[in-house]
Amino acid sequence: ATPAGGTAAETATHCPYCALQCGMRLRPVEAASAGAAPVEVTERPDFPVNRGALCGKGRSAPALLARGVRLTEPLVRDRPGGPLRAAGWDEALDRVAAGVRTVRERYGADAVGVFGGGGLTNEKAYQLGKFARVVLGTANIDYNGRFCMSSAAAAHRRAFGLDRGLPFPLADVPHTGCLILVGANPADTMPPALRYFRELRENGGTLIVVDPRRTRTAEQADLHLQPRPGTDLALALGLLHLVIADGLVDEEFVAARTTGYDRARAVAMAHWPDRVERITGVPVSRLREAAGLFGRAATGMVLTARGPEQHSKGTDTVGAWIDLCLATGNAGRPYAGYGCLTGQGNGQGGREHGQKADQLPGYRSIEDQAARAHVAAVWGVDPDALPRAGRSAYELLDGLGRPDGARALLVAGSNPVVSAPNAAHVTARLRELDLLVVADLVLSETARLADVVLPVTQWAEEDGTTTNLEGRVILRRRALDPPEGVRGELWLLGELARRLGVDRGFPADAEQVFEELRRASAGGDADYAGISYRRIAAEHGVFWPCPDPAHPGTPRLFLERFATPDGRARFAAVTHRPAGEEPDREYPLHLTTGRVLAQYQSGAQTRRVAELNAAAPGPFVELHPRLAERLGVADGEPVAVVSRRGRAVAPARVSAAIRADTVFMPFHWPGAGRANSLTNPALDPVSRMPEFKTCAVRVERIGIA
Ligand code: SF4
Repeated sequence: ATPAGGTAAETATHCPYCALQCGMRLRPVEAASAGAAPVEVTERPDFPVNRGALCGKGRSAPALLARGVRLTEPLVRDRPGGPLRAAGWDEALDRVAAGVRTVRERYGADAVGVFGGGGLTNEKAYQLGKFARVVLGTANIDYNGRFCMSSAAAAHRRAFGLDRGLPFPLADVPHTGCLILVGANPADTMPPALRYFRELRENGGTLIVVDPRRTRTAEQADLHLQPRPGTDLALALGLLHLVIADGLVDEEFVAARTTGYDRARAVAMAHWPDRVERITGVPVSRLREAAGLFGRAATGMVLTARGPEQHSKGTDTVGAWIDLCLATGNAGRPYAGYGCLTGQGNGQGGREHGQKADQLPGYRSIEDQAARAHVAAVWGVDPDALPRAGRSAYELLDGLGRPDGARALLVAGSNPVVSAPNAAHVTARLRELDLLVVADLVLSETARLADVVLPVTQWAEEDGTTTNLEGRVILRRRALDPPEGVRGELWLLGELARRLGVDRGFPADAEQVFEELRRASAGGDADYAGISYRRIAAEHGVFWPCPDPAHPGTPRLFLERFATPDGRARFAAVTHRPAGEEPDREYPLHLTTGRVLAQYQSGAQTRRVAELNAAAPGPFVELHPRLAERLGVADGEPVAVVSRRGRAVAPARVSAAIRADTVFMPFHWPGAGRANSLTNPALDPVSRMPEFKTCAVRVERIGIA
């Protein structure tokens, strides 16, 4: 585990947070005082993705390993509404097993739900899916990645027949001619990635950023387009219209490698630039400039993040951006293409191994007979006994405690009380459960509601693989022992399986699980069959698909053919439609939500790190000076943001960086300033992604509401 350049005492591993999965080394801290981190982070310049660079989240990650901020013993609640008290592992696991048995006997297997997370390692995601299908026999397992990248995944698969966030390595980015970043703010979410965009510009390439806010990423762009939230689809169609009108379509590529162009052309031609300006608020002159830059570049890329994806039309929106790439010949060749900047640490691997409601390991459909037979053979079970597709994340949460919904829920690596849309409603549903079990590092807001809380090991205390946003499978290494009283999820799944009558197939050793995962994935889209821990350590990660040990891995997909039956990419040919909720007289503003540099996702971890908390201590409402003046709101004054679902209170942050018809709130905090009290759970019909990125709100001065 010690890389070239590291010392014998150092462990080469990766950051526990975002999808960049930066390489780092951990060095033991001699005689660390009680309450201090037992390891410190040092640079790992040999890892090519970040070359030693880290953001403050990564550098401060060891703080969570210290006692005092984390859970170190199981907790149980003896009666509804009573306090949580410390318990031994046997008592806690017996409670879980007994509760599961009771619910299953009363209401059936599907009444036991599982809610996983995009931060879990590949091995944990795999075992969680297997546990749900084989031990619990439930269809109802899904995970918080449904809230993250599912629209991009669905669009990717629809167009190319396969979904890998980036079908090319990040190292290709500096060599493209024009890059459009849509709804992505890596300056705050993954700062070490900025160097790729900087190098692109140094090489003479052009960076266009599409975002309703002038973010720190947008400040670095050659051109910033600032559309109304919820109108990215129309914007893409407007650019496609201009590309077609200006004769910039790559006819040869379209004829040789795509299908469905004529319909896409017809849809785009109906989106005249002045119509697109009316919908998006982006002036025609800027649309022309962007279309010219992208259409005339020798190669181009479009990268999306949550901005265009978290919508009730997220799949179609991403599809429209892919259509722009296809029309200009920017797919399936080097330094060109569409990609998604996945958010969570294992956002890519988390969607490949079976914790998604509709999928089995290898990124296979659970409804596919051949896939069921293959995976059932690896698991040693009858394929006909495997459940079918279950409910998507929000539908699972929305149904909790209802007659046809889950009555028991096991949550691992997720904090839906803060991160789910319409969060007050979701919290109320969680309270209706007969049994809520939460496995977490810390007493998150969701864990506080649980009947049983299981304290689990962290990144630096366990081995395991993740798959970064490039599709590069990498290895996290155990650098230290966990505190007494803390156990790994793999171990606890095995213990629960045994208590529920399944004695084999759930080892606690991650590498053993990975060896089975390799076999289960063989022949699937995300084929890991040729990847081993030894190879990953020796090669700085291996890109899937990698079907056998002699295969070099696949950094670039689709160079010869796309993964569709006829080998051609498919135009989506989609049309603009309004968001699930548009501003009106009562709620006249758009709300959009997102992240800030010093916090991560629901904040369960980063809010416990002193230096991160000092940098970003609480929520705020960003609003334009004109709007502030109209409302009579001063910078720093507390305001209430009100939607049809709830109300959130936070200080105003007056900034000309945002559109005057839009307010922004970061979503990392619980309580009165919880942004997700406001968000709209309108779902995308394909991906089942909720509409986090826009809903209608009004802003009220506190005291005059
Ligand atoms: Fe960790 Fe992401 Fe920061 Fe890298 S960019 S150090 S992976 S949080």
